[in-house]
Amino acid sequence: MPNADSSQLDVLIIGAGIAGLAAATALRHHNVTILEQSRLKEEVGAAIHLGPNAAKIAMEWGLDLNNLNSPETQWYHELGHDGRTHFKIPIFARKEFGAPWLLNHRVDLHNELRRLATTEDGPGKPAVIRTASRVAEVQDAETGKVTLADGEVLSADVIVAADGIHSIGRTAVLGQKLVANRSGHSAYRALIPRERLLENPRALAILDGDEKGMGLTTFMGSDRRLVAYPCRKGTLLNIVAIVPDSEAESSTEEWQVLGDPEKLLDSFKDFCEDAKFILRAAPGCNLWQLREQDPLPTWTKGRVILIGDAAHAMLPHQGQGGGQAIEDAEALGVVFPPSTPSSAVPERLELAQKLRYERATRIQSYSREKALGPKPGEKVVNAQEHAHYNFGYAGARDWAAKQNIELPASA
Ligand SMILES: Cc1cc2nc3c(=O)[nH]c(=O)nc-3n(C[C@H](O)[C@H](O)[C@H](O)COP(=O)(O)OP(=O)(O)OC[C@H]3O[C@@H](n4cnc5c(N)ncnc54)[C@H](O)[C@@H]3O)c2cc1C
Repeated sequence: MPNADSSQLDVLIIGAGIAGLAAATALRHHNVTILEQSRLKEEVGAAIHLGPNAAKIAMEWGLDLNNLNSPETQWYHELGHDGRTHFKIPIFARKEFGAPWLLNHRVDLHNELRRLATTEDGPGKPAVIRTASRVAEVQDAETGKVTLADGEVLSADVIVAADGIHSIGRTAVLGQKLVANRSGHSAYRALIPRERLLENPRALAILDGDEKGMGLTTFMGSDRRLVAYPCRKGTLLNIVAIVPDSEAESSTEEWQVLGDPEKLLDSFKDFCEDAKFILRAAPGCNLWQLREQDPLPTWTKGRVILIGDAAHAMLPHQGQGGGQAIEDAEALGVVFPPSTPSSAVPERLELAQKLRYERATRIQSYSREKALGPKPGEKVVNAQEHAHYNFGYAGARDWAAKQNIELPASA
């Protein structure tokens, strides 16, 4: 039963991805249990960058940059498919936004978020992670009950559905099953060890960087692109190659499906030699169908809230999906200070949605625009303005002050 008297709420989080682990960290002053369907051995082998908006929050939680070994973005370089530079701009993330733009191996970021959620050293108390615990259904959103696949029923004051793009929490909140739409594009991804790039100094420089440091590089075609950036102290070059679905028939929504390197190369046959050298250097590749969803009418019902991809799955063209999940998590920490009464949970979840909906939806729609072009009648957004919007976020309290949103007295 929900915890009527205690100064701590019982919180069940569905999913130990970026969103779930971040929420567990933000809510360490409550009793948190994470239910994760997998055995949680390892995240997928790929990279993920975290803009200063999310890095700042995670660093306030104690994110240890030494554990991450993540290069910081010092520049962004965009080239045409022919290898000619469109522009190369310096990035001053720490100076302008107060935190670095981090280029992380996903496994390292996941492990570090897990450490923050479960370490004995942190504030409050460690979250408990129950692996091999698949939630079959959110049985009752109003009373906060979930049923596990083995039939066990658990209840809590708060249910945070951080269960990704196929969320079952979303079904309970919306009252219907929603399937994310195909975007028309698929993404190949690979991690290339440094030694495989040694023969081409220009390709190596994409990994090693220049006198200013390391950065992000994109080769842009009209309907396809190759994004490359270093991770893990520059020992690996992460690549994401986005192509039309028509050239990637075997793509599915699973992360671990192998791609065909020949087909990948064929999709980039009109690109410059450097781009093709990088693609040939990949020791193998995975292929993933990019899905996205329209903004949901609501993220919350009763004692349940959706966060991360469950709430606002977005295309990866801005690299903000994980960052928005971290921002969602931080907002939950703000609306649930210690001693929040259980009776206040539904209205506090409404407040969390109010704090987060406008911004996450705007970033979701901008990611779509960047990938697919604006919808008819939609204003084209200036990319630099939007980067300022994305990166300049300073947490839910600051957002509430700017938007005149009232927070609970003790928040
Ligand atoms: C090609 C690509 C590149 C990207 N690059 C970036 C980037 O550079 N920067 C960035 O910020 N974002 C990026 N993203 C987006 C980012 O990866 C996602 O937004 C982020 O991982 C979402 O995290 P999540 O925790 O919400 O969901 P997920 O990572 O999907 O985690 C959900 C978790 O819930 C568990 N789960 C699901 N259902 C159940 C259930 N019923 N019971 C129990 N457990 C369950 C799953 O096993 C999983 O552990 C990229 C995405 C793609 C596709």
